[in-house]
Amino acid sequence: MVTFDVGAKFTMSEASLSVTALPAFADNYIWLVDNRTCAIVVDPGDFATVDTALRQRALTLSAIVLTHRHEDHIGGVKKLVSQFSVPVYGPQSDEMPFVSHPVSEKAPLVIASLPVSFTVLSVPGHTREHLAYYAPDQQWLFCGDMLFGAGCGRMFEGTAGMMIASLAQFSALPDETRVFSAHEYTLSNLKFAQEIEPNNQDIRQRIEVETAKREKKQPTLPSTIGLEKKTNPFLRHAEETVINRLLALNKIDSKDNVSAFAAMREWKNVYR
Ligand SMILES: [Zn+2]
Repeated sequence: MVTFDVGAKFTMSEASLSVTALPAFADNYIWLVDNRTCAIVVDPGDFATVDTALRQRALTLSAIVLTHRHEDHIGGVKKLVSQFSVPVYGPQSDEMPFVSHPVSEKAPLVIASLPVSFTVLSVPGHTREHLAYYAPDQQWLFCGDMLFGAGCGRMFEGTAGMMIASLAQFSALPDETRVFSAHEYTLSNLKFAQEIEPNNQDIRQRIEVETAKREKKQPTLPSTIGLEKKTNPFLRHAEETVINRLLALNKIDSKDNVSAFAAMREWKNVYR
C-alpha cells in the first residue's frame, strides 16, 4: 500500500506527532495522526486501508474522527469499531448513529492518548452537519469536504450564504495553518481557478508546483490557508478581479458577493 508522510510533524516536549496521507478509492485521503504508538484516523472511508497502515506501523488505534456522513468518509467505521472498540467523534446526527461521542463547537475535542486537541468548527453547506477540526497548537485543519486545494465542496445541503460563512471560518485561521482536505482535486480545481482569474500569478505558479507533485504521484495536500487565500476562487469570491470576470462572462448581472459565489459553485459543477 502506498502511503505518504506529508511532512506535517509537530514536537511538543518529548511528544512528537506526525500526519500521514492514506490514499483510498479514486481520490480520497484518510488522514492518520500518530505519535509512533497511538493513532487517530480522520474520515476512514475504507477499513482495509486503515487496518493495513496501523499494522505496518505497529500503531494502536485510539479514536476515529468524522467530518460528515458521506460513505467515502465513514465506510470503514463499523469494521474498525468492531475490531478496535474506540470512541467515534463526529457530528450529532440521526444519520450517524455510530458516532459514540458527538462533538460540537461548544467544547474542544481532546484526544487522551495523543498530545493534540481540536477546536470544533461547525461548517454546514456540503452537508448540514459538517464539522471541521482545527488543532491550534499544531495549526492543522482537518476540513473534510468543505475546503479543497483551490476549491470547495459541492453545495448539497446548504446555501451560498451558508457556504461563505463556513469558509470564512477557515480564512480567519492563521495563514500557516496546514489544510488536510479529504480529496485530491487540486489540479482540476486550479484549472477552474485559472478560468476565473487568468492573470493571477499565484495560481499560475501553484499549477506548476502541484503538477510536479502529481507527476511524482505525491499528494498536493496539505496546503495552507495562506496559499488558499491567494489561489482558491471560493475564498476569493468577493475580490474585484473575480466579480469583474464573472460579470464579463455574464455569469452574474450585478456586483454581489453571494451571487458571485453561487455562480462559481454552479459553474464548477459542470466545468470540465
Ligand atoms: Zn462529502
